[in-house]
Amino acid sequence: MPELPEVETIRADLKLEVLNKKIEKIKILDEKVIGKDNKEKYYKLKDLKIIEIERQGKLLAFVLSNNKYLLIHLKMTGQLVFKNNKDIIAGGHPFSDKDKKSAIGYILPNKHTRFIIYFSSNKVLFFNDVRRFGYVSLVNKEQWLKIKNLYGPEPLKKDFILVKLQNIFAGRKAPIKAILLNQKLISGLGNIYVDESLFLAKIDPRREAKSLKKEEIEELFKVILKIIKEAIKYRGTTFSDYVDSKGKAGNFSNRLKVFGRQGQKCFKCNNIIKKIKVAGRGTHVCENCQK
Ligand SMILES: [Zn+2]
Repeated sequence: MPELPEVETIRADLKLEVLNKKIEKIKILDEKVIGKDNKEKYYKLKDLKIIEIERQGKLLAFVLSNNKYLLIHLKMTGQLVFKNNKDIIAGGHPFSDKDKKSAIGYILPNKHTRFIIYFSSNKVLFFNDVRRFGYVSLVNKEQWLKIKNLYGPEPLKKDFILVKLQNIFAGRKAPIKAILLNQKLISGLGNIYVDESLFLAKIDPRREAKSLKKEEIEELFKVILKIIKEAIKYRGTTFSDYVDSKGKAGNFSNRLKVFGRQGQKCFKCNNIIKKIKVAGRGTHVCENCQK
């Protein structure tokens, strides 16, 4: 699932391409993507421009020139692919080996394409989603602010401060991993960066959140910021399949310490990394380093 660094990377890339471009047409290939919304209101976006792209956690908001907000949530398997005459820029869910083999990911639109925005001068933005959990929604400013309020503080934003983290953990019996994944409490973190943060902070993901000592929370706070910053610098972990023509294809995956490394040796202590289940999610842990 794309997490904060991946969504931030596609946001920054798209911003360079679509800002102030006129929307020529909207195509809805799968109505599930807009839920119970009326299709007609999306067709009325014709001739508007995108004047900003905002983000809250993993949710993207395209701000339109009529002050409405077009929200796109990639969820588990959503991907955004932007195509102009010479470049392809993509972010979100990577293609499976099967898709790569059949080249389906490289044909646009393809059977996973749900929603398309056509801009002037042959620029097109495709929203593809294999498992169809992602969604598109059109809201006004008031509704957007309400939605943003449902999310917890986000790393790298002003509201992510140590004392908030302490308050969030205090009295909570759930495993620390579950708390970090809960978007209402902290926004933007998913399975990859939670496992990596807990490893660097030397905390066992199964521990009750309330059992964390002051120094452990301080360390966790620091490493979350460090990892998220670093992952954004390397353009995230989950998408290296598409490279734009400028060759921007950094990848954080070679820097992962525990995620996806089950059965391999811990870089710090040579103990074997285990994959266990915590909060219903596959969780990577070095039981020697993490206590
Ligand atoms: Zn270790």
